[in-house]
Amino acid sequence: SLSDRLGKIFDGLRGRGALNAADVDAAMREIRRALIEADVSLEVVRAFVEQVRERAVGAEVTRSVTPGQQVVKIVHDELVSVLGSDAVTIDLNAAAPVTLLMVGLQGSGKTTTTAKIAKRLKDRQKKKVLLASLDTRRPAAMEQLRVLGEQVGVDTLPIVTTETPVEIARRAEREGRLGGYDVLILDTAGRTHVDEELMAETAEIKSIARPHEILLVVDALTGQDAINVARSFDQRLDATGIVMTRVDGDGRGGAALSMRAATGKPIKLIGVGEKMDALEDFHPSRIADRILGMGDIVSLVEKAAQNVSAEEAEKMAKKLKKGSFDFEDLRAQLLQMKRMGGMNGLMGLLPGAGQLKKAMAGANVDEKVFDRQIAIINSMTKKERANPDLLNASRRKRIAAGAGVEVSEINKLAKQHRQMADMMKKVSKGGMGSLAGMFGG
Ligand code: GDP
Ligand code: MG
Repeated sequence: SLSDRLGKIFDGLRGRGALNAADVDAAMREIRRALIEADVSLEVVRAFVEQVRERAVGAEVTRSVTPGQQVVKIVHDELVSVLGSDAVTIDLNAAAPVTLLMVGLQGSGKTTTTAKIAKRLKDRQKKKVLLASLDTRRPAAMEQLRVLGEQVGVDTLPIVTTETPVEIARRAEREGRLGGYDVLILDTAGRTHVDEELMAETAEIKSIARPHEILLVVDALTGQDAINVARSFDQRLDATGIVMTRVDGDGRGGAALSMRAATGKPIKLIGVGEKMDALEDFHPSRIADRILGMGDIVSLVEKAAQNVSAEEAEKMAKKLKKGSFDFEDLRAQLLQMKRMGGMNGLMGLLPGAGQLKKAMAGANVDEKVFDRQIAIINSMTKKERANPDLLNASRRKRIAAGAGVEVSEINKLAKQHRQMADMMKKVSKGGMGSLAGMFGG
């Protein structure tokens, strides 16, 4: 995958201060190739690579696990920003019946997606939905929508074969209004390619139906063609969103990237199969992961976070060698653990971590406990932090007042610190070799 390849390129760079232009260029070649493989249009690839290069050259590498991972992260973030950072969904914020118009080429998945959306709105949002097929060209198309509607338990407008698409749109609007429907979805006819007749017809339907959403349905598998189609439809009809179908199967997430870049319109939903529930919200970050070949971005973020702790652990290891563990260190620990959202911080890197964790806030970690303990240490003088033995009764009272806690909590923290310091001593005697190995690797 791309992440693997980037990893290889950057393996040799560990520990240099910042990414230089030559390093980044090597990575960019891989990124370019991967994007093209993922079916991203050349024009988008070019612009994208340029953006990433700008962000990557000179970026500090010290804090990341490996420079490769850091570049992957930059690429990932940039992908997400191009794809649109937030998942956008269908907007139903309008007077009922809210009309959705489905447009796109023949075979792109309009009729299937119409029924899928209807099912989703009915099941998840308890909406009363009416479907209408304006595909007068093929009687079978109307029947197809009727059958799908029946399958998902949603009403379809009765078929009248003598009407024009515009007449059907009018009848559908009336029926939607009188029938008390929340949502009306108009499925339109497609063509095998974009032509003026189709555009004119769809534009007329738009002016009559005045849809709240115009959803452009495009087939992800048609790659570059889908982009051109999307562009022409969007220029003429000004779509409000894109639905990408056939995102199931191979990893052609690249089409999404091009689509977004070409039209600037958000991808609202993706079709991931023929079944009626094979419709998903579009998550830019998942598509970015797919393009990069990273199974799971969460793991990357975790690795990055763990790396920060590795740096701090290194400092800690040095202190352990000297045999000191004061309140300053404890505070660093608490902040670290808070940042890591739990017990996976530095403690996780030390042997005997299980016992240490117990000695800390307790098995049931509560953020507020960390905050209170940090507040206590903040209320100590520098001297007290460095010399835990200084904490006599009057000092404890002063600290408690400063931190806004009971003296008993100061006692608890002092006891906890002593236990940890003892534990640290044992750990440092037995395990410095392995610790060093851990921090180096
Ligand atoms: P339309 O001509 O635009 O209305 O396209 P249809 O809705 O009739 O779909 C054409 C074919 O594509 C049908 O066989 C669908 O089952 C299939 N299809 C639609 N969406 C998806 C999808 O997300 N994944 C897969 N694998 N097939 C799909
Ligand atoms: Mg159809």
